[in-house]
Amino acid sequence: MPELPDVDVYKTYLNACGLHQGISDIEITEPRILVETSSAALKRYLKNKQFTATDRYGKHLFVHTDGAMIVHMHFGMTGFLKYFKNKNECPAHTRLLIRFVNDYHLAFSCRRLLGQVGLASGVEDFIAANDLGPDALQISFDAFKEVMQGSQKAIKSLLMDQTKIAGLGNVYVDEILFHARLHPKIAARRLSEEQLNTLYQTMIDVLRYAIDKKADPERFGASYLLPQRHKNGRCPRCKTALSQIKITGRTSYLCRQCQKG
Ligand SMILES: [Zn+2]
Repeated sequence: MPELPDVDVYKTYLNACGLHQGISDIEITEPRILVETSSAALKRYLKNKQFTATDRYGKHLFVHTDGAMIVHMHFGMTGFLKYFKNKNECPAHTRLLIRFVNDYHLAFSCRRLLGQVGLASGVEDFIAANDLGPDALQISFDAFKEVMQGSQKAIKSLLMDQTKIAGLGNVYVDEILFHARLHPKIAARRLSEEQLNTLYQTMIDVLRYAIDKKADPERFGASYLLPQRHKNGRCPRCKTALSQIKITGRTSYLCRQCQKG
């Protein structure tokens, strides 16, 4: 599922290929992905416009245009972008296709239809309307500490709560808790100052590392959990078989030796 690092990679991708060229047409094959707009309104708005810049906030991508509105994208569980020339390169499950004047296309693909595309008046307005917490790469330590100390929730559930901290999901929270050597079910407010410090710094380090590795598990070093997220996965540190437990309906991977409750 696209989390902060994945969306950051999509942002860099879109910056490299999709900016500053006229949009000649928009095809929407699955209007169910549209939020706060209709197929007709989105087409009308984007036709003959250009994308000019991008912003990422949490797991959300915002694409500015040379008009008054911005395009908002959320990638759900399976969403991604692809830029290509020939229609035969169009990915499966393309829900929205933008054609540029140079005859290249940008596809928004999402197999499970949990992605969202919409129009918004501004990034700040969107953040407020959707009650998003501070971005995980921008939050200060003091604000992070306040979030953690103000909650009875398990740390994993709290870190995944987008209204508290925006950008983290199941995979990267597991990665962060593994490196911080914390069990996902520890109550957030039981963490010591030292544990909070470690958790905060680890969160920043893991996210930066993942962005640097293009959020591609195959590029991750042997000390990372992500490439071990499978049935026979072993702890990168002590080689114990990883445990899988369900937390808020999602499968968590952890090492019971290294991450004690
Ligand atoms: Zn271990």
